[in-house]
Amino acid sequence: MNLPLSPGAAKALALLQAAGYEAWIVGGCVRDALLGLPPKDYDLTTSALPEETQRVFAAYPRIETGLRHGTVTVLLEGEPLEITTYRVDGVYSDARHPDGVTFTRSLRQDAARRDFTINAMAYAPGQGLQDFFGGQADLAQGTIRAVGRAETRFHEDALRILRALRFASVLDFTLEAETHQAALACAPLLAAISPERVFSELGKLLCGKAAGRVLRTYPQVLGAVVPEILPMVGFDQRNAHHCYDVWTHTAVAVDHVPPELPLRLAMLFHDIGKPDTFSLGEDGQGHFYGHARRSVEQAEAILTRLRAPRQVRETVLLLVRYHDAVLEESPQRVRRWLHKLGPDRFFDLLAIQRGDAASLAPADCTRLEGFQRLEILAREVLSQAPCLTVRDLAVGGEDLLALGYRGPAIGRALRALLEQVLSETVSNEKNALLQRLAQMDAENTEKMEPCSKKKDP
Ligand code: ATP
Ligand code: MG
Repeated sequence: MNLPLSPGAAKALALLQAAGYEAWIVGGCVRDALLGLPPKDYDLTTSALPEETQRVFAAYPRIETGLRHGTVTVLLEGEPLEITTYRVDGVYSDARHPDGVTFTRSLRQDAARRDFTINAMAYAPGQGLQDFFGGQADLAQGTIRAVGRAETRFHEDALRILRALRFASVLDFTLEAETHQAALACAPLLAAISPERVFSELGKLLCGKAAGRVLRTYPQVLGAVVPEILPMVGFDQRNAHHCYDVWTHTAVAVDHVPPELPLRLAMLFHDIGKPDTFSLGEDGQGHFYGHARRSVEQAEAILTRLRAPRQVRETVLLLVRYHDAVLEESPQRVRRWLHKLGPDRFFDLLAIQRGDAASLAPADCTRLEGFQRLEILAREVLSQAPCLTVRDLAVGGEDLLALGYRGPAIGRALRALLEQVLSETVSNEKNALLQRLAQMDAENTEKMEPCSKKKDP
């Protein structure tokens, strides 16, 4: 068998072998190469002790941050390569990290500490594939199977439970029965895992191609890290527009937006406020007045707790907030939204609304054509280089300075002009704007309002 190798990985293997050590690429890169996917990065495992690895690569730039765990990072052919000594993990007393690691000269022992059979294979050109636990067969069958007893492995490191779900989602695989049972039984252990690690795995899970199925299958596991989702599970909406309970609707909607983190998170949280805001109308229909606002509150608490990057959190909250806003098909309204959200977020919002509509009762799927038209309309509006921000105005700060405006009055005047351009009271041309400005000033003075314009003293 021949697997493709990057130039850096090939060189690192050759240098270690030439120095008399065993060396393999291992883990995710072997898995991905066997699947015919381009590996994201190459991890190497070797019989060389860390000091020995350092000696082999003495002539190359190295980063030694992981030395305590036996990892030396070497820069070869412009690639950072993580080279780790064969390792046995010590006792885990906190369901998070081993108390210590021991180096070994046995590849098999190194493979045995790895999480899943599909992640425990090693490969080297000329040596072939080392597959001690049936990883290749599991890859072929689409199975996530723990190496060893699943329950023991999840007790050692509970993050593996989320990793199992993540690989199931990303690869569209299913958990083997014992691994599945152990994931359910051990889910409460996830409480011990750091928020950053949880968020990273949750994000990859959500962006996987089978995210919706994994969400539907494992609400209890996800509920161990985000308990706020649990009231959605099985919540009957009692509403003619909905054919699913809130959680199923959420899972289906997640699959209907592109696999980008903010979109998938926004879809996950868009209706999380529904159980709290449910009311039954006189017509016997369920209503959820103000649920978007409640969803924003809950999503904000969750994302803050999970230490989501600020940019991601803000985008998600914006999309959740407007997920059920009415977007009218008029150029003026679309321009308003483009101004309010910016073009990128506006198209994100369209994706969210489309995903939401796609998982309603089938009759409502006619709304999908409306989104198509809105998107075309927005692209048309944008192609005319519309004035969306004060920076797009045909007058600028210098013009206002020249007219005698000073300080905050400049920003106020520009914003007032933008408002007029957006509502099409005036066109975005310099003369028209200056005229309008003079008019506005005159009106303000007549009304005895404090003049927005301040002359130099
Ligand atoms: P990705 O494509 O996300 O990089 P990966 O399988 O390479 O997936 P990494 O987190 O980069 O995942 O880890 C590299 C390898 O280290 C894994 O393939 C697995 O063999 C091992 N590993 C990682 N995390 C764990 C863990 N929590 N428990 C046991 N083994 C692990
Ligand atoms: Mg990796």
